[in-house]
Amino acid sequence: MSQPRIIIVGAGFGGLAAAKALKNTPAEILLIDRTNHHLFQPLLYQVATSVLTPSEIATPIRGILRNQKNTTVIMGEVTGVDKDQKCVIVSDADRQNVPIAYDYLILATGASHSYFGHNEFAEYAPGLKSVADAEAARNKILLAFETAEAEEDADRHRDLLTFVLVGAGPTGVEMASALAIFVRSTLKSDFRRIDPASAKIVLVDMAPRVLGTFSEGLSKAAKQRLEKLGVEVRLGHSVDQIDADGVVVAGERIASKTVIWTAGVAPSPAGKWLNVETDRAGRVRIQKDLTVPGHPEIFVVGDTASLDQNGKPLPGVAQVAMQQGRYAGKLIHRRLVGDPPPSPFSYFDKGSMAVVGKGFAVLQSGKVHVSGFGAWLAWAAIHLQFLATSSLRLAVFLQWAWTYVTGQRADRLIVNPPGSEPTRPAADTAIKKAVASR
Ligand SMILES: Cc1cc2nc3c(=O)[nH]c(=O)nc-3n(C[C@H](O)[C@H](O)[C@H](O)COP(=O)(O)OP(=O)(O)OC[C@H]3O[C@@H](n4cnc5c(N)ncnc54)[C@H](O)[C@@H]3O)c2cc1C
Repeated sequence: MSQPRIIIVGAGFGGLAAAKALKNTPAEILLIDRTNHHLFQPLLYQVATSVLTPSEIATPIRGILRNQKNTTVIMGEVTGVDKDQKCVIVSDADRQNVPIAYDYLILATGASHSYFGHNEFAEYAPGLKSVADAEAARNKILLAFETAEAEEDADRHRDLLTFVLVGAGPTGVEMASALAIFVRSTLKSDFRRIDPASAKIVLVDMAPRVLGTFSEGLSKAAKQRLEKLGVEVRLGHSVDQIDADGVVVAGERIASKTVIWTAGVAPSPAGKWLNVETDRAGRVRIQKDLTVPGHPEIFVVGDTASLDQNGKPLPGVAQVAMQQGRYAGKLIHRRLVGDPPPSPFSYFDKGSMAVVGKGFAVLQSGKVHVSGFGAWLAWAAIHLQFLATSSLRLAVFLQWAWTYVTGQRADRLIVNPPGSEPTRPAADTAIKKAVASR
């Protein structure tokens, strides 16, 4: 008799945890992801700010699961689910809309950026969600300095060297502080015509405080730290406009050529594929056993699922996704081997952390609220522990140690994507003017 087939869509934190929990399950497991790598999103900002290279935060999925013989990894994009026929619709580089049948389905497709109804902002304010996003942000930041150095008109330096981050949650705070240190220490001696330390970094949020999910005390500590690093923090006003010349906040224009979106996220279209009830954000409402009502064979986990605990929705964080993925895998395993089901899912909150520059982090876990160097050491140890492989843990540890001691950063190459212009028009003009004046 053929074995039951379990399809997992998404090899992020939730999907990978589910696959690992099914390691000894008598089933054929298909893990489908549109990329070939598992990405450690919490460290994306370090790629964007040249601390780490992409391969230090992303690992090939099939490499992680190479010893898991019951699991096949497929690189493909799921575009729909047929609940009645029990199949997912998959497109890959070679074939479009191929139906693949399942007995059990785990959807772990995560989230993408949300511009809160202002999709026109996307062109000028890219977000930070994938390796490509982080590389694009790094290119943009490094290119701004190169363009300014080539530009003889000092009046143009101001907007080239102004960096605006929209969204003062953990990603915005971490990115702003890493950028502040990058411009004031790493790049300090590298330019002749411009002073990188004069760069302006502005962090904008409509919320009244940074790190709004943390306690007021930690928020305040983080804001003070940001200001000490030279970041200008503007709170309490939403962004009215983002265009090629910068952003408009509370009627005031901040001229900038580099705006990065670190605000909202929107779930994947899993709710639309399934045509089931979602919450206001579009996340699939699931039951306490993480299945979709009326479909005990369909599980939804992580950022694309909505589940309340103690009257509050669970947050979109890696721990929730991992614990839910593990639970879904365990439940399916038990069903298949005839064991009683586990008790309903309950999230164990281990706490939250955010790093604010070199040697400083905030940590909140239950009644423990700490900030400073100790919290930073805990942040570093925990992030290393959760990287996908031991070789990555070693590589990242060594890179961090090197950066901490020397202030130097690993990856400062501007790698233009195919078809893009090698230089921006402003730099072209400046170079032509310089040549002509000789
Ligand atoms: C910049 C950033 C910083 C963060 N920092 C933290 C942090 O410090 N701490 C924390 O706890 N959380 C953090 N988070 C949130 C955390 O990363 C997410 O909560 C977590 O990744 C959710 O896991 P997931 O499995 O639901 O989705 P993801 O990890 O996003 O995985 C989704 C997977 O599904 C795949 N996929 C999506 N759609 C399809 C499709 N149609 N077909 C095939 N494959 C598909 C994607 O390629 C991806 O591999 C951060 C997120 C970001 C973006």
